[in-house]
Amino acid sequence: ERKLVSPEADLDEHAIEGALRPRSLDEFVGQERVREQLSLVLRSAQRRGKAPDHILMSGGPGLGKTTLAMIVAAELGAPLRITSGPAIERSGDLAAVLSTLREGEVLFLDEIHRMARPAEEMLYVAMEDFRVDVVVGKGPGATAIPLDIAPFTLVGATTRAGMLPAPLRDRFGFVAHMDFYRPEELEVILRRSARLLGAELDADAAAEIARRSRGTPRIANRLLRRVRDYAEVRGDGRLTLDSARAALNLYEVDDEGLDRLDRAVLTALLRRFRGGPVGLSTLAVSVGEEPETVEVVAEPFLVRSGFVARTPRGRVATPQAWTHMGLTPPPDAAF
Ligand code: ATP
Repeated sequence: ERKLVSPEADLDEHAIEGALRPRSLDEFVGQERVREQLSLVLRSAQRRGKAPDHILMSGGPGLGKTTLAMIVAAELGAPLRITSGPAIERSGDLAAVLSTLREGEVLFLDEIHRMARPAEEMLYVAMEDFRVDVVVGKGPGATAIPLDIAPFTLVGATTRAGMLPAPLRDRFGFVAHMDFYRPEELEVILRRSARLLGAELDADAAAEIARRSRGTPRIANRLLRRVRDYAEVRGDGRLTLDSARAALNLYEVDDEGLDRLDRAVLTALLRRFRGGPVGLSTLAVSVGEEPETVEVVAEPFLVRSGFVARTPRGRVATPQAWTHMGLTPPPDAAF
């Protein structure tokens, strides 16, 4: 997703993304229900003077899971430790993290569904009993030495909640479901980001960028920077509707906000598979992507916008997809 929307993502861009993160629940735009639920969880824990329940955040890339984890720590006034599922290859990696946590620390575990199995089991015990069993020795002589660890709060993030084993999912006291943002919410985010970047953003330009950001704050902020580049180089620096349109077209974001991957998936579905039904992995292979990328990055938005429908027999293009791509469905198309 990163490479498709922004081929030139560099360190600077990364730093800017960090600078645009809201720092408190009040500054966090949208996701009202999650915000309210989370605020209650945090407040009640503070009243009891205890670490709050473990929190699982589920939702697509760029919807604000990392941002929210940082806010949880900030609101609790607690230190934050960040790691990710793929970084934990063996249970020893996790033991090293867990045994050095300070009391009340927030541990953010991104992509928790990609953690190694043995580590998962260690995490269950740590979440429930604040204990780590360190295995010493090998084979029949191996012994587990229980080690108490400081009470902490785990904030797990996943783009695929369905992939989490039930025993892990059940150990979270609260699951925050993050959904796509409404265009009005993205406009608020864009205005705030423009202000922080010192850019002058016209209202109609903000609406245009918001509408074409796939319901995703990270994409909105990234497109804002591309429009700003365009306005600086080709215009007088002011972000107008015209510069927004021209820049978005240049970066291959279409009227509906579909990017290259979205359109590649749609084109394959329409042309090669005559509108489907087709299985997700077959579709992914035909666009040269991992099934997970298509499933996590492209499909949710295509389904949400009514271009693709999921059926028991596979993915199917809707009439809207044919129209949008300017193609005529065959008479036997499966809708
Ligand atoms: P990933 O899982 O891919 O890392 P994520 O869900 O953790 O994505 P973040 O990194 O938290 O997403 O957010 C991406 C960017 O979008 C951040 O730079 C942040 O500034 C912005 N952002 C996300 N959510 C909000 C929000 N609710 N209000 C304002 N800005 C937001």
